[in-house]
Amino acid sequence: MHAEVISIGDELTSGQRLDTNTQWLSERLGELGIHTLYHSTVGDDLAANVRVFREAIDRSDIIVCTGGLGPTADDLTRQAIAETIEVDLVLDDSALAHIRALFARRKREMPERNTIQAMFPAGSLAIPNPHGTAPGIDLTCDRDGRTGSRLFALPGVPAEMREMWEQTVGPALQKMAGSARVIRHQRIKCFGVGESDLEQMLPDVIARGRQPSVGITVHKATITLRITAKAESEVACFESMEPTIATIRDCLGSLIFGEHDDELQHAVIDLLKSRSERLATIEWGSGGLLAEWLSDVDHESHVYRGGIVVRDAEALAATLRGTAHNHDGAGDVSAIHDMAGHVRNRFAADYGLALGAFPSSDTVDREAGELHFALATPANVLTKTVPFTGHPDILKERAVKQALNFLRITLLQQT
Ligand code: ATP
Ligand code: MG
Repeated sequence: MHAEVISIGDELTSGQRLDTNTQWLSERLGELGIHTLYHSTVGDDLAANVRVFREAIDRSDIIVCTGGLGPTADDLTRQAIAETIEVDLVLDDSALAHIRALFARRKREMPERNTIQAMFPAGSLAIPNPHGTAPGIDLTCDRDGRTGSRLFALPGVPAEMREMWEQTVGPALQKMAGSARVIRHQRIKCFGVGESDLEQMLPDVIARGRQPSVGITVHKATITLRITAKAESEVACFESMEPTIATIRDCLGSLIFGEHDDELQHAVIDLLKSRSERLATIEWGSGGLLAEWLSDVDHESHVYRGGIVVRDAEALAATLRGTAHNHDGAGDVSAIHDMAGHVRNRFAADYGLALGAFPSSDTVDREAGELHFALATPANVLTKTVPFTGHPDILKERAVKQALNFLRITLLQQT
């Protein structure tokens, strides 16, 4: 049994308004254990709406649509549904009485065109709308030789739509979905390899239809494994996830840096706190992002001492003047070594972490370059260089994550 969510309105297809209803409804359906397979968005055009409904009824067992239930000429959802299933619109007297009463309470006369809001495709039920005029529509659409497709039409106004979902549609679907089921998720965060390499390290866990299921998403090089369990209770959900999580931890080891909303900077700060050690940073080419991320997550302990941000070779040379080497020669990558040692001393830290996103010397390929990292520890200075190709927009975040991960892995190896 799967669902389709349909959003209706020119304001959505023209890009003027973001379709938040679809996201909200898909999450709610998911919580009931109902998989949403299609999202459709269609403008205020009768023929186009009919086409979308026809297709949805054919391919989806549950349809939830929002928008187009208002009284104006561009609100066509009722007409589109009636035309799709070839029935008439019939007046519902009690719905009309409700709308009239609403206008009376606002001390206004009901405009004639609002009557349309009390008209329903024959065979449907009204879904009460406690705070708006337009009731929703609940209709089972026949399908030849198959179970009918259950269609719910709700107003586009997000607050009304949500209230009607909570009071009527959600409970109706829960009944359809069978015994009350709970769905819970757990997220494991990883960094350090590509998505497909990581997938290969996890035999069988990612298989489709597996229970609990495991999905992989990547955002700016951080990989999230999302484990989803369905069971009768929350406790049963988490219990059923345990063996899968243990397998994942075994297979991925130190590629895993956290859970839920953890980022690499949380992992680094936690490690430093547990060791009572202090960190300082220096960065060239990342605009202070490394310092910002670390400061943001280190509120009380101040294991992160601070950092230096340089924009260009001249600033770097000025910063390093008087240290072991002079780097007046600008883009000299050996400077990275001294950068790390310099901040470690200057901030009286245990570790000095240096990041340099050095631009490519090749003027043809401006998006290629090298990322250099150095970590000054109490014992020595470790360096690492990785090639970088990619859009400049993601360069900074990727570079900072790699710097943090370099530090994290080094700290783990020292314990
Ligand atoms: P009304 O009775 O208010 O006319 P309606 O069912 O006709 O309700 P629309 O006219 O389509 O709904 O939209 C009403 C309001 O809700 C508008 O401000 C619209 O931008 C917003 N809206 C409609 N659909 C969505 C959606 N999918 N996501 C977020 N907002 C939406
Ligand atoms: Mg409208």
